[in-house]
Amino acid sequence: MGLLTFKGGIHPPHAKESTEHLPIIDFLGPKVVEIPLRQHIGAPCEPTVKKGDTVKVGQLIGAAGGFVSANVHSSVSGTVLDVRKQNTAYGFDTCVVIENDDLYEVCETVKPKPDYKTLSGKEIVDMIKEAGIVGMGGAGFPTHVKLSPPPEKPIDTIVLNGAECEPYLTCDHRLMLEESEKIIKGLQILMHALNVKNGVIGIENNKPDAIAKMTEAAKGTEIRVVGLKTKYPQGAEKQLIYACTNRSIPSGGLPMDIGVVVNNVATVATIGNLFETGMPLVERVCTVTGKGIKSPKNIRFKVGTPLKALIDFCDGYNGTPGKILLGGPMMGVAQFSDELPAMKNTSGILVFTPEEAKLPDASACIKCGKCVTTCPINLEPLQISAYALMHDYDKAAKFNALDCIECGSCSFICPAKRPLLQTIRVAKREILARRKK
Ligand code: SF4
Ligand code: SF4
Repeated sequence: MGLLTFKGGIHPPHAKESTEHLPIIDFLGPKVVEIPLRQHIGAPCEPTVKKGDTVKVGQLIGAAGGFVSANVHSSVSGTVLDVRKQNTAYGFDTCVVIENDDLYEVCETVKPKPDYKTLSGKEIVDMIKEAGIVGMGGAGFPTHVKLSPPPEKPIDTIVLNGAECEPYLTCDHRLMLEESEKIIKGLQILMHALNVKNGVIGIENNKPDAIAKMTEAAKGTEIRVVGLKTKYPQGAEKQLIYACTNRSIPSGGLPMDIGVVVNNVATVATIGNLFETGMPLVERVCTVTGKGIKSPKNIRFKVGTPLKALIDFCDGYNGTPGKILLGGPMMGVAQFSDELPAMKNTSGILVFTPEEAKLPDASACIKCGKCVTTCPINLEPLQISAYALMHDYDKAAKFNALDCIECGSCSFICPAKRPLLQTIRVAKREILARRKK
């Protein structure tokens, strides 16, 4: 069978060589963790602990503030030093600051779950909700919400995202190599919960060892592992679903509209672990990498560990850092400081040198059309961007600006180095703000 893919897209350098062969290593070192009570899309949590309390690993420290929200648990054992507002990657949010006693004493409530086959779908979804599990591929969307489609939108397929198409990042790759059984177990749990027979895992073909390992782990199950063409943004939801199922999400629609739920492999490994050990989402793996880092690594860290502690664990900066991104170079978000806590959705910490971080000078559009043929959503980036620059957001909306998935392919390919993505982002924000008025 030929490799599965989608229309458009780009081929940026992979830049994964420095970490793809490095096994995951644990970082147990943070003396203090600062755990944000908003690490997800949706309402922030309410603190359930106060200054001076002692806490254990897996203990609830923040209760979800609504259905679209996700509980937060302590990632270490120790003493609450403060519950305060501070900078996080999401803004200025309440954090529970805990002094780590290095004992990693586990909370009494953390117990292995019963055999998933004996549980109803609702019981499983409730356990995932309790455990504060969110999309760990970057979006941070609460997983229990995805697993609760309305009755008129039945799900028949679950797709797992093992594409890891962002350059530099290798944490999902290593997870598929080192924890393939947990991922398969997690997917089986979700298939049971939603009463679904089709489980598909899509992996880009620049990770043949991961394809082989996951295929081996899936033997004897109903799960299919498919190789995808290595092309960015192969792991974006719409593109992944199209490649794995040949189904297209309509404009403004969601995967559930076409009977599909998508999850990242790291999220599903966490669900596998939850059922095996009872531990909620308190740690994850991320790739700390880039020319600005002395010894890049794939690190399993405790949620709330300061970015600087993880960078120091990689022997620190290689000279003066030019730019720090959370995530990969295409969709990652630049940070103004390394004194922020790493969170449930921190898949990468990428540090550029000052030379790499320098933005090229933009020139006039030469109407080459490359941004149009590259856009995986069939948009006209040059038009949306031009209207955004003229502050004509109604016209930008008519060109379907809100469908943009912010993949950055248009900016990458543009020979005139136009700031397409940046201006389209502004247009999206303005359109949404005006609709709320
Ligand atoms: S317009 Fe949006 S979706 Fe299309 S290539 Fe540019 S960033 Fe990606
Ligand atoms: S790729 Fe750049 S130069 Fe070419 S049409 Fe698009 S905006 Fe213009």
